[in-house]
Amino acid sequence: MINSSLKNLSQMLTKKEISSVEMTQTFLDRINKYNPTINAYIALDTNKTLAQAKAADVRIANGTAEPLTGIPFAQKDIFCAKGWQTTCGSKMLANFVAPYDAHVITQFDNAGAVNLGKTNMDEFAMGSSNETSYFGGVKNPWDFDRVPGGSSGGSAAAVAARLCAAATGTDTGGSIRQPASLCGFTGLKPTYGLVSRYGMIAFASSLDQAGPMAKSAEDCALMMNVMTGFDERDSTSLNRPKEDYTRGLSNMQGAQPLKGLRIGLPKEYFADGLDANVAKVVQDAIAEYRKLGAETVDISLPNSQLSIPVYYVLAPAEASSNLSRYDGVRYGHRAAEYDDLMDMYMKSRAEGFGAEVKRRILIGTYVLSAGYYDAYYLKAQQIRRLIADDFTQAFKQCDVIMGPTAPSTAFKAGEKADDPVAMYLQDVYTIATNLAGLPGMSIPAGFSNGLPVGLQLMGNYFDEARMLDVAHAYQQVTDWHTLIPNLDKPNLVLPEGKV
Ligand code: GLN
Repeated sequence: MINSSLKNLSQMLTKKEISSVEMTQTFLDRINKYNPTINAYIALDTNKTLAQAKAADVRIANGTAEPLTGIPFAQKDIFCAKGWQTTCGSKMLANFVAPYDAHVITQFDNAGAVNLGKTNMDEFAMGSSNETSYFGGVKNPWDFDRVPGGSSGGSAAAVAARLCAAATGTDTGGSIRQPASLCGFTGLKPTYGLVSRYGMIAFASSLDQAGPMAKSAEDCALMMNVMTGFDERDSTSLNRPKEDYTRGLSNMQGAQPLKGLRIGLPKEYFADGLDANVAKVVQDAIAEYRKLGAETVDISLPNSQLSIPVYYVLAPAEASSNLSRYDGVRYGHRAAEYDDLMDMYMKSRAEGFGAEVKRRILIGTYVLSAGYYDAYYLKAQQIRRLIADDFTQAFKQCDVIMGPTAPSTAFKAGEKADDPVAMYLQDVYTIATNLAGLPGMSIPAGFSNGLPVGLQLMGNYFDEARMLDVAHAYQQVTDWHTLIPNLDKPNLVLPEGKV
């Protein structure tokens, strides 16, 4: 059951083969068994979770179930959930219980989904390894010595280890896709503005976007149906007609379902810095796409090479502003002893934030300061536009862009912890889409030395349905997405195989 698709889980529930309470308990038992080692969840509340499952069973019995009713999900701890500890991975919010629900949480609740708990993450979503969390690192289920990626590392490990049916994540520069690549599952960052940011703790508001982290493209499509939609409480939420993201999936049958599809291959994504084994897996996946009828086109995204420096000006600038609210007064950590108001602010922030968050606040404050604004912040905004323009040009030549998601497979815990720039390079292939506001996806495409490798798909604005079709077509003819790690014998050189 733990490896079943959302569709199958839903059928099991509506046919009364299993109740939501029983299904939820199965996942809770797995969490009890493996979470003490993996550390994917940082808040569990069995009473709340089982109450939701009971309510779902009532709904199923009276015939008002929706596709996700009764299915247990994990929620990244960046989403406020009423009555739940909501920490964003920080000591600053370690004692914060959210008094209201994020829009995403409301959408899952309205769909009748069950919340299994809140997942670990890099502090304020800043990181690529989950090592900046105040609640400790998360283990990669494929190899416990390695990181799951970040910042959505807890959700990633929970999905890969089947400690939930699926999970939510957020992606400011790659935090859904890079962990999807490192843990071997399917993750989608939607077009900016499709999923409301209301109640989602802000990191860099012009880049932050929530999305699904799941076993397959089909599962992601079902979650997109629930997560997207206009919300007037987020001024950047887009007022568009509701879409059914599953609508094209059933057409992905037959010998060449992708005939006519043009796949753009950006030369910058296959250059120096890409691990040779990762490159081979990605090329093999692209060869599989050719068999499915797609043609490939060589393209160029010349300014994408500037995305890391641009991001590390803009994201810290926005973060320094967003994080100014944590002052020890309204909520969050307050220093126990201080001399006066200013001292209280300084001590509370010094104690409440970790090193990476402080680094970002310092960079952000610097690039926004009067003497440097034009040289750094304004310049970065101009290059952001050039990066977006590159994609506009590229999508005249192709329908979807493919390349690696991350430059390497999962690295060892501690390996990059003291080298911020090496850590920042993990997102070298993902950040450009955030800067342009475009959708991006990572799907499992194979293994290198027993560790998962992701293939990245990038689409034009609002082209999620087509991207999901393209991912689904591949998942119809390959089984990388069905392989799961053996948690009782991690660090296996090769995947154990299907369960
Ligand atoms: N790794 C990037 C960072 O540290 C992106 C994080 C994210 O997408 N939230 O900022």
